[in-house]
Amino acid sequence: MDAEVEVASTAARERHAELAELVEEANWRYYVLDSPTVSDAQYDAWMRELKELEQKHPDLRTPDSPTQKVGAPISTEFAAVEHLQRMESLDNAFDEAELAAWQARAERLAETEPGPYLCELKIDGLAVALLYEKGRLVRAATRGDGRTGEDVTPNVRTVRGVPHRLTGDDVPDLVEVRGEVFLPVEGFRQLNEQLMDAGKSPFANPRNSAAGSLRQKDPRITAQRPLRMIVHGVGKWEGAEPPVTQSQMYDRLKSLGLPVSDRYQVVRGLDEIREFVKYYEEHRHDPEYEIDGVVVKVDRVVVQRQLGSTSKSPRWAIAFKYPPEEVTTKLRDIQVGVGRTGRVTPYGVMEPVVVAGSTVERATLHNASEVVRKAVLIGDTVVLRKAGDVIPEIVGPVVDLRTGDERAFVMPTHCPECGTELAYEREGDADLRCPNARTCPAQLRERLFFAAGRNAFDIEGLGYVAATALTQPLPPQEPPLRTEADLFDLTASRLLPIKSVVLDPDSGLPKVDPETGEPKVVSFFATVSGAPSKNAEKMLEELERAKEQPLWRVLVALSIRHIGPPTARALAAEFRSLDAIAKASEEELAAVEGIGPRVAAAIKEWFEVDWHREIVDRWRAAGVRMADEPPADQGPRTLEGLTFVVTGTLAGFTRDEAGEAITSRGGKVASSVSKKTSFVVVGENPGSKYDKAVKLGVPILDDQGFQALLEQGPEAAEAVATRGEG
Ligand code: NAD
Repeated sequence: MDAEVEVASTAARERHAELAELVEEANWRYYVLDSPTVSDAQYDAWMRELKELEQKHPDLRTPDSPTQKVGAPISTEFAAVEHLQRMESLDNAFDEAELAAWQARAERLAETEPGPYLCELKIDGLAVALLYEKGRLVRAATRGDGRTGEDVTPNVRTVRGVPHRLTGDDVPDLVEVRGEVFLPVEGFRQLNEQLMDAGKSPFANPRNSAAGSLRQKDPRITAQRPLRMIVHGVGKWEGAEPPVTQSQMYDRLKSLGLPVSDRYQVVRGLDEIREFVKYYEEHRHDPEYEIDGVVVKVDRVVVQRQLGSTSKSPRWAIAFKYPPEEVTTKLRDIQVGVGRTGRVTPYGVMEPVVVAGSTVERATLHNASEVVRKAVLIGDTVVLRKAGDVIPEIVGPVVDLRTGDERAFVMPTHCPECGTELAYEREGDADLRCPNARTCPAQLRERLFFAAGRNAFDIEGLGYVAATALTQPLPPQEPPLRTEADLFDLTASRLLPIKSVVLDPDSGLPKVDPETGEPKVVSFFATVSGAPSKNAEKMLEELERAKEQPLWRVLVALSIRHIGPPTARALAAEFRSLDAIAKASEEELAAVEGIGPRVAAAIKEWFEVDWHREIVDRWRAAGVRMADEPPADQGPRTLEGLTFVVTGTLAGFTRDEAGEAITSRGGKVASSVSKKTSFVVVGENPGSKYDKAVKLGVPILDDQGFQALLEQGPEAAEAVATRGEG
């Protein structure tokens, strides 16, 4: 017997039965209940294992295997309808090799060269067939098991963009079109907010929300959901000449008034297919709807016919799937972190899981009321979503998987790091804070780390571990720094004896020494022989250098609320010394471009606190420069009176360097674009500031325009600037 193809052993048979059951159960929850309990990645892995088993043991490939069937049996809540032509699924390719294998098979089986191919987006919605008789929509049905679907005609009639009557001259007597009903991502987000506000469970992803919204017994509920449809195929077609290619078909469907996508491309071969796949992998979030891959179809209908179908999918099409953006994982715990401003934030600690290409094990839950709103319990299986650059988000719990051992999160009443009772700063605030701003080790650690950061003193040797070592109370050892006032008084002899507990990056908790059972303590600033470590030497060296940093960096390092680099630069350019800023009235501060009353009040408040002023005094005493050089030393002030906003990544400058180049010439840098902005300097990947500049018609400078500005002045820059609609 062939070594590769063998009769299934008992073990293989049992595994096959087990997998088939898991898949059937998942199908039922996904297609019938619209409430899956496993992730698509898990489902795909089960299917893959099933297929591999069947390849090895073909006797397991019976017609009732899930690998041979489409979807799931239909729900009894809807009337059953027979499709005029079977609705199929699609085979998947998960990598380039599988894509190439599909194309090679098409070349082998087709009577002619199978290309050209049509590449389009795989919309993550649910498949629906629309039947038009004499141009009138008479029936709409879900895919069901491919032969029998659910009658959802009244519901589909409420979907915007689905014509009740076809338009144009040459309307076929009968046409059945297939497409995807979906909820745009924004609609999905809003729907989930509404559901959570009403105390209901959110949907895991836009696909489930679309299916759940369409498959409602009451079409009035469907009508309230902003569903859309895009048509991507044809079943039966009678009474008019059908188009001969898929792409012509789309033109034809469009002329009949049906919604088709314009994000498709007809390409010649595998290289161009790969390019399309790659492009949309990088631009996955450009469309208003969620996509989970790309569908590649043989464009010519005659070749499609030659290739035909397997038991569940056409051979002339393939779905290339991107990595999933929703996964499920266990929520092991909910812990709280204390930030730089004392804000106490709960975050989920999860079993590490790969989502959209990166491993995630923590996700913020923002505040206590958000935990309640999401109704997640510690121990829950949760849906974790990471869409594009957006930070990972716990969408909600998979309630059906609860065992009863889960427990509710209780927001602590006292700071986990210093024990101070937590409080709201103002009535109506969402965030609890630790009021012990001065000596709470967490707040001090975060402030110190921030003060040493790239946007402030830029002290490379003072990273998070050093900041922790310098601020951690380790009784009987006092924290080496009582507040950041002590920062510039550090000396080698003070650093050497510092011991600190090593924090486990996974849990955030101290690492334990297995021998003693005590927290592991290390000397971060001393070598084994007791000499200063490289870290210590580097940090001391850089602290010396930091004393010469320009005023705006000192301002940022003080952690005054709302003061980031752009506001700090504006203040420094206007007042030139910390003393002048401290003395300025609220009105004078608020008059500076980019500072408004709220920021002005925060500055005033900051200087009223004794220990804040002590920081300034002690830094000054230690030699930190608290004023910028007079402008006379800095060359011609060609940009006097002009205001700039910088956005995106510039080729020759960091953001700080660009800001300095502007302020040293007398210009001001603001953080937001207004009509008063003189120029917006735009690098690569600019943010919304660019859009605003275009909208307001503010002159826009690219890298070269910026160079012209610095070298030749504003008039030269004006000549090369572009402008929006304004
Ligand atoms: P599929 O979703 O992988 O592909 C087939 C479907 O893609 C078609 O029916 C069609 O409606 C749709 N489609 C979207 N855009 C299209 C386009 N441009 N052209 C043609 N078709 C397009 O296959 P399937 O059989 O519907 O579902 C299987 C998938 O569903 C699994 O891979 C898994 O991701 C998911 N699933 C998950 C669970 C779960 O429990 N999490 C359960 C069942 C299925």
